[in-house]
Amino acid sequence: MKLAQLTAYLESLAPLAYQEDYDNSGLIVGQPDMEVNQALISLDCTEAVVDEAIATGCQVIISHHPIVFKGLKKFNSKTYVERVVEKAIRNHIALYAIHTNLDNMMMGVNARICETLGLTNTRILAPKQNLLKKLVTYVPIAQAEQVRKALFHAGAGHIGEYNEVSFNAEGTGTFKGSENSDPYVGEPGIRHHEAEMRIETIYPANLESKIIMALVLAHPYEEVAYDLYNLTNQHQQIGSGMIGELEIPVDEAEFLGEVKAAMDCAVIRHTAFTGKRVKKVAVCGGSGGFLLKHAIAAGADVFVTADYKYHEFFDAEGKIVIADIGHFESEQFTQQLLCEIIQEKFVNFAIRLTKVNTNPVKYFI
Ligand SMILES: [Zn+2]
Repeated sequence: MKLAQLTAYLESLAPLAYQEDYDNSGLIVGQPDMEVNQALISLDCTEAVVDEAIATGCQVIISHHPIVFKGLKKFNSKTYVERVVEKAIRNHIALYAIHTNLDNMMMGVNARICETLGLTNTRILAPKQNLLKKLVTYVPIAQAEQVRKALFHAGAGHIGEYNEVSFNAEGTGTFKGSENSDPYVGEPGIRHHEAEMRIETIYPANLESKIIMALVLAHPYEEVAYDLYNLTNQHQQIGSGMIGELEIPVDEAEFLGEVKAAMDCAVIRHTAFTGKRVKKVAVCGGSGGFLLKHAIAAGADVFVTADYKYHEFFDAEGKIVIADIGHFESEQFTQQLLCEIIQEKFVNFAIRLTKVNTNPVKYFI
């Protein structure tokens, strides 16, 4: 298939619009119209991973972390980033990254950690704001249902477990077309009164152009009247970190033992135990330190994350146990997650999980 088919599918699940500002998710090297029949999945895109793609005949590497974060100014093989990009281009291998846009999804990296730790009642720890908008449009009553259907089909009216969400109120619209107009009802030059339905519905901002196109196509009027509103509501399905609960509370040492086994960690760095039993657990794959306040406010007993620095550990202040399990360890199951979501859609597409352990951190035990 074309690479674009694969990336369009991944971006339907984890839209690029949901990546953080510092990130560089998406197609980094390669052409959307190139043919691909085998993908290599990895957490990081290192030289060894590119070599593996060449050796195994993969045309695309899908990694969690982007190989390039900032602008590259030179390509003279001096750094591993330049060498990876150069080698990929020379060997016609596409590089694609699905990073914080996947982190921020309900079905993403953190959901996989929660699942691995046996957490239930999970929700996003820090839901994002300003991702939702509202559309209001006015439609002749007879066409209201066709417009509603078109809007829902384009992705509007979705809140949590609810679909086809809208508010509808009847009223009267007026219009007078110019001599050059071709009104759907009424005559040019004469004011017309039409019984209309005011339809309101919510939608994710990144789908706006698709939804407006659907509206204009389904609406009978020559000039479609609609209003777009910015909302400051939180989007409960998009954001950083997750929090969930253990079905049976356990003591802190027992819990960390379970985390160590489940996440295959050589070691866990943690703050002092508080003496409480562990019921609520907050998680964030990768560098999650910025979420500590959210974890404490949400009543988490333990915060499982990575990349903690010495001074940041003091912020636990006896309110929570910070457990730093290692960046690679916290995100390792992302590779399986990617394999599963691609396989689910493209049953006959070959997917290979990297055999390279890309973790740059080694433990001397
Ligand atoms: Zn990461």
